[in-house]
Amino acid sequence: MNQALTPHGPPRQRSTRRRGLISAAAVVTAALCLAVPTAVAQADEGSPFSYIGQDTPKIAVYPYSYNSQWQPGMDAALANWNATYSPVSLTKKSSSTSTVTAASYSANWYGYYQACGGTCLYIRLNSRTISKDSANQKNYVTSVLVHEYGHALNLGHRDGQSSIMNRQRNRNTMVKPSSSDVTNVIRAFPSWNPS
Ligand SMILES: [Zn+2]
Repeated sequence: MNQALTPHGPPRQRSTRRRGLISAAAVVTAALCLAVPTAVAQADEGSPFSYIGQDTPKIAVYPYSYNSQWQPGMDAALANWNATYSPVSLTKKSSSTSTVTAASYSANWYGYYQACGGTCLYIRLNSRTISKDSANQKNYVTSVLVHEYGHALNLGHRDGQSSIMNRQRNRNTMVKPSSSDVTNVIRAFPSWNPS
């Protein structure tokens, strides 16, 4: 089995991260969000955290432009996190090496988060599975991207709960982080000090 495809390995301590290095260790800090949940992705159910996220909740990605079927749903994902009372700030910046990419992938996941460093990420959205399974495509795109940003914000899967990190959520309707998701992001970045 390709280690790069392991949804969640053992929790990694933030202090051990080597910032900016695209190393073998960085390659395994990826989260597959499978269209069909499988037994392989059960490791983190005891904790709301994945420890595979970014060092900061202020995340800039390289600007992207997609067609009207996709762009509004993708932009809504950033807006929905930014609207929360939390340290989260999701922006686009032309100097960023982080990317959000929508394309048709043969794999069966909807979304894929990968850390390429403490302030570097790659998020991929699978247009093939999303187009195939969605009733409300805009909401589906938003739901998947809000979930992937959740991984970037150090959230793990929360199956069985009202959470954007629940892989069984209705992606046609659930497009925002839940209150518990927001609480957990605040806990993940305890230095936040709202004035
Ligand atoms: Zn996931």
